[in-house]
Amino acid sequence: MSKENIALIQQAGVVGAGGAGFPTYKKLDAKVDVVVVNGAECEPLLRVDQQLMDKEAGFLVESLTRVLEITGAARGIIALKEKYTAAVTALKRAVKETGIIHLKLLEDFYPAGDEQVLLYEATGRIVPEGGLPLHAGAVVINVETLINVGHALQGKPVTEKYVTVAGAVQNPVTFRVPLGTSVRELLDKAGPIPDKFKVVEGGPMMGSIVDNLDKPVTKTTKGLIVLPVNHSLPARKEVQWSHTLKRAKSVCCQCNKCTQICPRYLLGHRMEPHKVMRAVGQGVDGFTGDFTMAFLCCQCGACEIYGCDMGLAPNRINAELKKKLQAGGVKNPYQNSPVQAVSDREMRKIPVKRLVSRLQLDAYNVPAPLSAQPFVPTRATLLLNQHVGTPAKPVVKKGDRVTCGQIIADAPEGTLSVPVHASINGRVVSVSDREIVIENQRRWEN
Ligand code: SF4
Ligand code: SF4
Repeated sequence: MSKENIALIQQAGVVGAGGAGFPTYKKLDAKVDVVVVNGAECEPLLRVDQQLMDKEAGFLVESLTRVLEITGAARGIIALKEKYTAAVTALKRAVKETGIIHLKLLEDFYPAGDEQVLLYEATGRIVPEGGLPLHAGAVVINVETLINVGHALQGKPVTEKYVTVAGAVQNPVTFRVPLGTSVRELLDKAGPIPDKFKVVEGGPMMGSIVDNLDKPVTKTTKGLIVLPVNHSLPARKEVQWSHTLKRAKSVCCQCNKCTQICPRYLLGHRMEPHKVMRAVGQGVDGFTGDFTMAFLCCQCGACEIYGCDMGLAPNRINAELKKKLQAGGVKNPYQNSPVQAVSDREMRKIPVKRLVSRLQLDAYNVPAPLSAQPFVPTRATLLLNQHVGTPAKPVVKKGDRVTCGQIIADAPEGTLSVPVHASINGRVVSVSDREIVIENQRRWEN
């Protein structure tokens, strides 16, 4: 039965909606004793999961019950922030009769939604260095992903995405949109925006600048933050690598503050960003010693935004080093299994309110209610690699008429992959090895 359910989840194209897009069928094809639902949504301004937990509490709990059966887990924990009061109330009611599903209420700190931090908060378990929650007997699953799993088990594929549009827009809002909708169309619906602006995709901490407004929404798009062009956040994200490196070499005073607030260090991992910075500053060769700590970085950005008073970016240094190490065939040498977090971890948690101020986003830290209006884009551009693994292979051609939910690109057999489905009714106007574009039916019928 589990195998049939896993096949349904794969066929429906479910991937992690809150991260890199790892195929969920693979994640759930495991035996664990606890499943933790990640409802922390710790990136400032994003408002998807907290609203879904309120509006879809019953279905979420039902879906979690199915996931417990699939993985053989004896219990489920929904971890969310205490401040999401509407969701807490709805979920308390929904889990009441289950006996095996409980809530874990979190303080408002960053990065509560890092899956290793979340697992520690919910269960006290620490994932081994370089490991996964699975290595600590757990699956951690995002709220929206879990809802997609519930739909998949009913035979409904992933064709839509919840996206918060926030920042300098007239109406901050959370849309449910067909996959493949362009950023441009989403911004148009959120009302007037500044003449000169930048858009950050994802959260302000870990997101990146959108360089083309025709970029489509994918299965992992969670938020679009519009900011005036002179805001400090886009400027930070656009700093050239050569400049980042030069400043790291010349400015770092080894104060160690970045390490003191690093969430992975605080879990007992040997991630000490100040040592990576020291190694960079000393210009030693890039494949040994402290450089390799980069493998343990989760790219949360806390060291840059909150830790370093000198405006340095250990997170970016780590990201670049990790790429170099992997390209050089270096394997992660860190395999410890810490049993205890750092003793004063509690005191070093980063309050989100202060983080928002550091990011200069106070004015934009407002609700972004779910829109009840159905969103009908003029066209949908569906990328074939919206997931980690092998891209899906087109099974339609230019001119074909397709209906929403139909498979238009399939997962190559024997690979880590999921199919891509049409997200609107319409006609295929182009097919390449990167994407399939569908024009809305209404448009070509008129
Ligand atoms: S980004 Fe910085 S704070 Fe976050 S895990 Fe990496 S080194 Fe630590
Ligand atoms: S906080 Fe900044 S200056 Fe201090 S050690 Fe870290 S990178 Fe260097």
